[in-house]
Amino acid sequence: MRQPEDELTALEEACLRRKLPEDSSGLVDFSSNDYLGLASHPRLITAFQKAAEKYGVGSTASRLISGTKAPHRELENLIAEAKSTEAALCFATGYSTSIGVLTALLSKGDTVILDKLCHASLIDGARMSQATIRVFPHNHLEKLESLLKSAARKATAHSRILVVTESIFSMDGDVAKLSEICALTKKYNSLMMVDEAHALGVRGQTGMGLTEELNLADQIDFHMGTLGKAAGVAGGYLAASQSWIDLLMNQARSFIYSTAPPPAQAAAAQAAIDLIRSDEGLTLRKKLWENLHFFQQASGIPDAPQSPIVPWIVGEADAALTLSARLREQGLLVTAIRYPSVPRNTARLRITINATHHKDDMARLASWLKN
Ligand SMILES: *Cc1c(COP(=O)(O)O)cnc(C)c1O
Repeated sequence: MRQPEDELTALEEACLRRKLPEDSSGLVDFSSNDYLGLASHPRLITAFQKAAEKYGVGSTASRLISGTKAPHRELENLIAEAKSTEAALCFATGYSTSIGVLTALLSKGDTVILDKLCHASLIDGARMSQATIRVFPHNHLEKLESLLKSAARKATAHSRILVVTESIFSMDGDVAKLSEICALTKKYNSLMMVDEAHALGVRGQTGMGLTEELNLADQIDFHMGTLGKAAGVAGGYLAASQSWIDLLMNQARSFIYSTAPPPAQAAAAQAAIDLIRSDEGLTLRKKLWENLHFFQQASGIPDAPQSPIVPWIVGEADAALTLSARLREQGLLVTAIRYPSVPRNTARLRITINATHHKDDMARLASWLKN
């Protein structure tokens, strides 16, 4: 039998062993996904506290038993309204949303087609669903079309074809060719799911993501996202038509067989969505994009930013770790991302800029990167 030490040694030798980071208090955080600074916003804190006082800290049961409280329903109604869909369903995390949705929608005989850079939760959900998995190179429309064509040829009246992409990619910060992908899914009579984990709060007129910005809301069958990134709280959601949501409620095992998230989590998430859509949200988004343009210029990156995620590709895992450690000595928290989170030999610093960063800290990071 192989011992854990053997595997750990192999990871260590490849510079791929992970450890929980040391206490990072006092460092300037360029690694969080709290793009608007909402995790510590007074209005979210108050909403969380009030709900905890009213409902207690736990939901006490799964959603279909007695765990559904008013904040869960209100949050789902709010998300459906904000996303312009008939309904929405909330999960404890984005990860469990991906797993629950993909396994509920797909089974043997169906085909799921994913962008190569899709998040681990989407890949895991696709694998667990037992559908046939096809992958197209990142944003490669011709390859996507040929996969769709061949899936459509084999499809029966009963089977489903689902195309899955992120709107803003989590490790590269770039944007999916959403309009084109949408058109292709329509052409081949297939379904489309978009994970807006890194676009919610950041893109779109009211911060509802890239689908809002591109006016594609009504062409997407499944709008997925997390409330743990720009929304600053925790939880995942899926917004869709009422029948799909009813089906998920009946078949998504990560929804059914798990204790409902604390009502306070749902209450704080509601406050976050409200804030994102408000004038204050607009101001925070403006500030975020100002900061991003400032950092881009200070660090000499040629391309205009498309999201708060700025990948600084280093290549080898050990080089990325060394650079991250050096920045840490300067009081700057920038995490090194390695395989399997990103492809081999593309180890990087994943720098995230947020609305609350100060110019002098961004300038300091930029000058360390350049030297
Ligand atoms: C973070 C992330 C998730 C998972 O969301 P959690 O709420 O953190 O579990 C799913 N998809 C993408 C693209 C993500 O970046």
